[in-house]
Amino acid sequence: MENLVYNSKNAWSEESNDKIMDFSIGYKEFLNSSVTERKCFQNVEKMAIAAGFVCAESMSSINPGDKVYFKNKNKNLVLAVIGEKPLVEGTNIIISHMDTPRLDLKPIPLYEDGDMTFFKTHYYGGIKKYQWTAIPLGLSGIVSTKNGDVEITIGDDEICLCVTDLLPHLATEQMKKTMMEGIEGEKLNLLVGSIPSDCETGKFKQTILEILNKNYGIYEEDFISAELEAYPLLKSRDIGLDKSMVGGFGQDDRICSYTSLQAILELDKIPEKTALCVLVDKEETGSSGNTGIKSMFFENTIAELINMQCDNYSDLLTRRCLSNSSCLSADVAAAYDPSFDYAYERKNSCYLGKGLAIIKYTGSRGKGGTSDASAEFVGKIRRIFNNNNVIWQTGELGKVDGGGGGTVAQYLANLNIEVVDCGVALLSMHAPYEVSSKADIYYAYKGYKAFYEEA
Ligand code: MN
Ligand code: MN
Repeated sequence: MENLVYNSKNAWSEESNDKIMDFSIGYKEFLNSSVTERKCFQNVEKMAIAAGFVCAESMSSINPGDKVYFKNKNKNLVLAVIGEKPLVEGTNIIISHMDTPRLDLKPIPLYEDGDMTFFKTHYYGGIKKYQWTAIPLGLSGIVSTKNGDVEITIGDDEICLCVTDLLPHLATEQMKKTMMEGIEGEKLNLLVGSIPSDCETGKFKQTILEILNKNYGIYEEDFISAELEAYPLLKSRDIGLDKSMVGGFGQDDRICSYTSLQAILELDKIPEKTALCVLVDKEETGSSGNTGIKSMFFENTIAELINMQCDNYSDLLTRRCLSNSSCLSADVAAAYDPSFDYAYERKNSCYLGKGLAIIKYTGSRGKGGTSDASAEFVGKIRRIFNNNNVIWQTGELGKVDGGGGGTVAQYLANLNIEVVDCGVALLSMHAPYEVSSKADIYYAYKGYKAFYEEA
């Protein structure tokens, strides 16, 4: 009798286990070296060039099979493999984001108090503030000085910064507060020094300024034109006695960036439709800003591609290309966590190790703000995955009215592109150390590659 019942299945199986384990090695290296969106951008560009991609600035026309990339303001990229069909017939897009929750330095960050020196921060994205205290933090970014732009990275095996917390012995008041209030935003101050430049008068701040000036040539005013980001200095590792999972910082959403990047880098034959790997910034703060997906950058890139492909450019061709395009909004999903089972609806949850997650809709309070993919498009993606032995699952982001969230899918939908969320489920999302399954990472790569080849 035909089996009419649907059951999602676990992705671990004897025959693929070695491939699953091997694939995670490169991913962990990518995580360790891509600690900020700028670092991630640099790594992606290097990997694209090594795979034969050419910067669009040095090209005037494109032909099927060409591998080309576009970059924007050192923070986002679009990689393209030109397909057999003209662009106006549509493209296959996978979009992910390279930014991740973190602590940004304030414009005037440096101060001294209690014979110590600190940097004030303003957190970026949705964090549980208490999680960022008492762990090693690194600092990376750029400072624009009168002598040019200086790249700074502080933090390695020897040195780190950190945010302090109150000892439990004196925390009677603090422990009564809610988790939201226990550590306030203005308490997320980075400890950066404690030696006075003058033992009589103090001047603790002076010591740090002298070190910064000596090492990087910067003055205090230069912080006003800087982007310095503090991130957990926690190396990615295998989790579990069976080494089945990856623990690491910034897996939201570099897990999808890495897997979609590998999928496009390893496209071996010319796809029917042009494949686009889009890597954006600013997702965690709502996609605004000229490096977020709400900026014109993506549409401009499509226009540039059309212009490189045909002699008579028309704006209408760009609009038709967008309307005929398909997109996987590759972002992370919430994996069911038995320790917090009250937050999930088990029948419609994603699980660690059950493969790539297709999320038809996101949103909150009655699907508010979601683009909700069509049945037809979800059906198409499901068939592509099934035909290519991609193990996949589906789920919602937690219980109805339990909270919610959104992704960039809605902004692609605004361009009349067919789009569905499709990514990897995480435990401890947005925490300094997030957990993923190696099986899900591998099937994300497999699924994204199948999408580029067959959608
Ligand atoms: Mn995300
Ligand atoms: Mn996020």
